[in-house]
Amino acid sequence: MKVFKFGGASVSSTERIKNVANILRSYNDQKILVVISAMGKTTNALEKVAEAFFAQKKEDALRHFNVVKETHLATAKELLGDNFTSTEIHLKDFFTEIEWLLHDKPKREFDYYYDQVVCIGELLSTAIVAAYLQSDGFSLKWVDVRDIFRTDDNFRDANIDWDYTLNKVKKDIVPLFDEFDIVLTQGFIGSTDENESTTLGREGSDYTAAVFANMLDAESQSIWKDVEGVMNADPKEFPNAQFISELNYDEVIEMAYYGAQVIHPKTIKPLQNKNIPLYVKCFLNKNLPGTIIHAKSIKQLPPIIVVKQNQVLMHLHSKDFSFVGETATGELYHFFNDIRIKPNLMQSGAVSLLVCLDDKPEKIEKLALKSADTFEVQIERGLTLLTIRHYNQSTLDDLTKNKTVVLRQQSPETVQVLMRN
Ligand code: ASP
Ligand code: MG
Repeated sequence: MKVFKFGGASVSSTERIKNVANILRSYNDQKILVVISAMGKTTNALEKVAEAFFAQKKEDALRHFNVVKETHLATAKELLGDNFTSTEIHLKDFFTEIEWLLHDKPKREFDYYYDQVVCIGELLSTAIVAAYLQSDGFSLKWVDVRDIFRTDDNFRDANIDWDYTLNKVKKDIVPLFDEFDIVLTQGFIGSTDENESTTLGREGSDYTAAVFANMLDAESQSIWKDVEGVMNADPKEFPNAQFISELNYDEVIEMAYYGAQVIHPKTIKPLQNKNIPLYVKCFLNKNLPGTIIHAKSIKQLPPIIVVKQNQVLMHLHSKDFSFVGETATGELYHFFNDIRIKPNLMQSGAVSLLVCLDDKPEKIEKLALKSADTFEVQIERGLTLLTIRHYNQSTLDDLTKNKTVVLRQQSPETVQVLMRN
């Protein structure tokens, strides 16, 4: 059995959905569990719906939601023609669920509403793609993953209840493959024991697929993207980015840790635990080999470049010039944990600490406020964090030319510099 994950870009138009059918056709008589994301930029659009609802701007929320409805209905109609009616009912059931909620007033926290609204993106896209594939002759079963993936109620970043979910996969998913070639379901979403929808964090569909691969003991997982495979830098920023044909799990974990937008950081562990290879394949040309990620150690990687814009440098200076000891540093880590913000780089000196973080203004403000009891706090915004794995001097010189470096950290494999433009 294989596990495939198709991201939002691979189902963003009727043409691309037909292309998914083409890809699947070349794997006929194989058993495949297919995980699909929301179409195109639907998740972003639904975030706006949730935000408007929570700001009590009901009309805006309904208007934003209407756009989502119309695009999905139009896509379904174009793909399904005469077979549209039953899918229309399926879609409208989901619409009603959301509209019912939008007519209410927010009483709980934002993250809860976010998940109830945003999860619909995956349900709509999979309902449409499944109906299209069935009408195209595939032996396929659509599954609501919320009946399978049990999570806690840590909305927007929910944690999977592994035992419950594994049991469900064994009991409800495995037998489906006796009858169907393809089981098609949603990435990114789950449900609590009280039937509240949850999400696993942005771009979480890769992770869903990996959990399935692990629980089904899949022979491989493939993630279908609009690039040739994993590149050594973001090709949108670096036109000379190089394709990497082979990587190992550890390197990908490192890349994700430093912020490379390749694969959701949680994806690797479930695969690594069962030694399941991960392919990053190109949906624009299914015949390209793609990148294979597995356990083998790999020599001779090119410099791998990760750029994070929009960084904040927080300068924490001890108020009475006393040394910054374990207590103050420990306290700071508690704050990170409470606010759920992760330092991208940290350096400590005798009486001060430097912390580089993503600029999430609300969280930065909270952190500054909490730290102000112990430290004088200064903040500099608008910085860029450059990370190079397997660096060489010429790449580093090249990428830091004409920039002011405000902080730098280096190990034999990795160099990180925080720069002012
Ligand atoms: N649709 C979700 C997102 O855009 C999940 C995913 O694509 O993996 O973040
Ligand atoms: Mg996506």
